Amino acid sequence: MRYLSTRGHADRKRFCEILLEGLAPDGGLYLPETYPQISSVQLAHLRQVWKTQGYAALAFEVLSLYVDDIPASDLRALCEKSYTEASFGTPEIVPLKPLKTKAVAGAQVSLEALSNGPTLAFKDMAMQLLGNLFEYELARRNAELNILGATSGDTGSAAEYAMRGKKGVRVFMTSPLGRMSPFQQAQMFSLLDENIHNIAIEGVFDDCQDIVKAVSNDLEFKRKYKIGTVNSINWARLLAQVVYYFAGYFQATQNDTQKVSFSVPSGNFGNVCAGHVARMMGLPIEQLIVATNENDVLDEFFRTGVYRVRGTADTHETSSPSMDISKASNFERFVFDLLNRDAARTKNLFFDQLNQKGQFDLGQEPLFSTAKTKYGFLSGKSTHADRLQTIQEVFANNQIMIDTHTADGLKVAVPLAKPGVPMLVLETALPIKFAATLVEALGREPDRPAKFEGIEALPKKVKVLPMSAVAIKTYIAQHCN
Ligand SMILES: *Cc1c(COP(=O)(O)O)cnc(C)c1O
Repeated sequence: MRYLSTRGHADRKRFCEILLEGLAPDGGLYLPETYPQISSVQLAHLRQVWKTQGYAALAFEVLSLYVDDIPASDLRALCEKSYTEASFGTPEIVPLKPLKTKAVAGAQVSLEALSNGPTLAFKDMAMQLLGNLFEYELARRNAELNILGATSGDTGSAAEYAMRGKKGVRVFMTSPLGRMSPFQQAQMFSLLDENIHNIAIEGVFDDCQDIVKAVSNDLEFKRKYKIGTVNSINWARLLAQVVYYFAGYFQATQNDTQKVSFSVPSGNFGNVCAGHVARMMGLPIEQLIVATNENDVLDEFFRTGVYRVRGTADTHETSSPSMDISKASNFERFVFDLLNRDAARTKNLFFDQLNQKGQFDLGQEPLFSTAKTKYGFLSGKSTHADRLQTIQEVFANNQIMIDTHTADGLKVAVPLAKPGVPMLVLETALPIKFAATLVEALGREPDRPAKFEGIEALPKKVKVLPMSAVAIKTYIAQHCN
């Protein structure tokens, strides 16, 4: 298996070569040269593996189709170490929860729980594996990596919990001082591991991102201090997510002739892009529903063909903050496939047109209609009022509390569900992470998993630094020995 860039660079690379890289050298994103096709015999085999051996074994089987430069026994061990009942709290890792909803008769709607991992958001699903893959590959190369990131909440803590105590890896995670929820701050800052560095910046999230960019653009510093990232464009993260589409399918169906649909609360298009990959492999997925909040860049595209990125000033701060994006960093992967893998056109759209005009329009392009017909995409948008109402309804009818992002996914899914096709809504976080909106909707605090009882009172490790790339560089240099 070799990987190519969506912008046509001539290089073809193997899995472990792109594992520690971000963008391809030409600024494109990596994708496999072809998607491995799952035959009906293989699908039956995977169902059997899921039933008899569980999630980690299924992950190994799916990853093996894409990874040919890690010995099978090592890859299996990495999967087993990443997906344990101890880390995810349930033997199924991603159990389904059937819901009573207002969906059309005969359409069973269920949540697929992806947020039982260490930080209670779906980012753990990929990040837990990534931590183990990084440690493995760095040891093989006798190398080190310093991960520099910016977070407004979920990504940073998932990365830290995945990398804590890992050999060869340090994490320098910037966050805006005083802007994360008290729970999120406690989650991150209570990690006392030596290789984890929390840096609170005197600024907002965009300032943190600008600093990370400025440091990464200093190529000499980047090389000297082996600076890397764990952002959602990383192919290994996307690949890890493909597995739970299979696990959801096997749980919702009895045999391989049945189809299911997925509704995915979306921001950077990383989660639903993994669903696209699963569907391209031949997993019987009817529809992939892209659910957005008030930041509806992706819904607008799937409705009209116009992809119009927003400035930070036009990005709404919403009660599903992990979907507050103005530009979907994984979206180029899907457009590349939509255009029958025309790299020159993809480059023209994402480099020339986006830079010059901040938008492109595929509305008149004949291939645009295939997003729906051939690739199964639908979309919809949800607002704060929808979120509150959906949380209230689910609680009234099921005595289950759902988080704000999951509520967006459910709100968009219900009117699109079809009779006879199970609808799986991906649960992307637990409500405790977004307690303020749950209190607004239900008038009570969400349940807190036992392992997070009292974390706000734990000792904290965090360094406050001014809004300055120089200050961050100095701090990194001081802590790299
Ligand atoms: C990151 C995140 C999302 C958005 O996922 P993408 O892969 O960026 O589309 C949705 N919900 C939660 C809770 C998240 O943390």
